[in-house]
Amino acid sequence: MIDSPQVKSYPLVVIGAGAGGLVVAIGATKAGKKVLLIEKGNYGGDCTNFGCIPSKSLIASASSAATIKEAKELGIEISSQVIQANQSLCRIREIVTKIRSHENPNALNKLGLETLTGTAKFVGPHDLQVNDEIIKAKQIVIATGSSPTIPAIKGLDKTPFLTNETIFELEEIPKNLVVMGGGPIGCELAQAFLRLGSKVTLIHSHTELLNKEEVCAQEVIAAQFKLEGMSLHLGIGVKEISYHEGHFQIFLENDHKIESETLLISVGRKPNVSSLNLEAAGIRYTDKGIYADAYGRTNQSHIWAVGDVTGMPFFTHWAENQARSVLTSLILPFPFKKKIDKNQFIPRVTFTEPEVASIGLSEKEASQSYNIAIYTVPFSQVDRAITTGKTEGYIKIVTKKWSSKILGCTIVGPRAGEMLGEISLAMYAGIPLRKLSALIHPYPTYNGAIRKAADLWLTQTILSIFKSK
Ligand SMILES: Cc1cc2nc3c(=O)[nH]c(=O)nc-3n(C[C@H](O)[C@H](O)[C@H](O)COP(=O)(O)OP(=O)(O)OC[C@H]3O[C@@H](n4cnc5c(N)ncnc54)[C@H](O)[C@@H]3O)c2cc1C
Repeated sequence: MIDSPQVKSYPLVVIGAGAGGLVVAIGATKAGKKVLLIEKGNYGGDCTNFGCIPSKSLIASASSAATIKEAKELGIEISSQVIQANQSLCRIREIVTKIRSHENPNALNKLGLETLTGTAKFVGPHDLQVNDEIIKAKQIVIATGSSPTIPAIKGLDKTPFLTNETIFELEEIPKNLVVMGGGPIGCELAQAFLRLGSKVTLIHSHTELLNKEEVCAQEVIAAQFKLEGMSLHLGIGVKEISYHEGHFQIFLENDHKIESETLLISVGRKPNVSSLNLEAAGIRYTDKGIYADAYGRTNQSHIWAVGDVTGMPFFTHWAENQARSVLTSLILPFPFKKKIDKNQFIPRVTFTEPEVASIGLSEKEASQSYNIAIYTVPFSQVDRAITTGKTEGYIKIVTKKWSSKILGCTIVGPRAGEMLGEISLAMYAGIPLRKLSALIHPYPTYNGAIRKAADLWLTQTILSIFKSK
């Protein structure tokens, strides 16, 4: 006799216990809904297990190592500079375990949430199969995230290359590391491993690192990487990779050969759509993500999608923001449905040193639609930066010329991510840059650079009218 699968019914099922899924599942439970959260792997998703948390923990150790190396510049003599950083890899795993302890099934069940571990796939518009169980759901939220893109390079699939899902499992800092991909993830990890003792080579198919950022930000980062001893191969592809007895051989398109004991692939991300059997529910999607409307609803009105699975940009703060809107729509009656705020610019930070933080339009983008003004303050003019000896970088603010309405901003420098908050708030609240000139900024802080940039509206734009007369 064949056992028929068990069927359970829920008003709300959330697929994926990452940044987006947890916000919806925990919020809806607290609002009194009966919720089932399905997760195939590690609760906490990419951010906690393979993304933001381990990478920023590694970067914290790397920053400490760099501070020791740079101590002499700050007047400190250290007799030995031998850095042994293997323990930093254990530290990462301890931090991940600690954060995950608030997101694992035990902790979630205590909040009143039901959890089910397994891969969910649609078998009908309201039906999911997980392991041997059939789950019926009135409403479903898909929050299955994204995965590393693996490029089709000859030989790569026969090698033990690393991705963000495996690199944090290393027991030792590798002697040498080749990083393929010069986007935010590649740049952050390349610099971190370099500072922790690896000899790092970075290969990037674009001619600039961080190709979504302003040119001057790209230049600062490339110069910093070279200064720290990273070997850069920019504007070139890889044509073949082989692996033999612990050694990778990476052949570039110009026939240059690079040898290494480890290889990290970080060339992009793809939304996790393939395991879901979306066809069975008639859900519209492409390989760039699931289609979701202004409210986060798919073309099936009872199925919602949030986070990386809906396509770029891939950020925890964006996944959570989408999830909060969908949560509101799920728990409140119809008139209170909440649109996802697609008019708000999404800030982004690359946690290299110096950090690169940006929001809104670049100078080039803004100049295509507006009469603009650019206000730039280098960190070499910021007293706080001078005291710490970290003066590379700048803040560049793009505004409408006369009103000084902020259109975009790029900050390259220490604490750029934290500084960007003031600009994000000003853009969100419609505060023009000129008003930040009157805001009292504590001295000496990095944010003082924002006041200096705001002062430039008067001196550079307004007073120049009188000078030219
Ligand atoms: C190295 C790295 C560093 C990063 N750093 C930052 C950063 O500093 N700041 C930032 O904002 N963002 C960062 N990100 C991006 C961030 O991690 C993601 O944008 C965020 O995790 C997306 O959340 P999500 O809920 O969409 O997906 P996830 O958090 O990935 O969660 C998706 C979950 O769904 C599960 N799942 C998938 N398919 C199924 C299925 N069929 N059934 C059941 N479960 C399934 C997965 O196992 C996963 O746990 C980083 C990413 C990486 C890789």
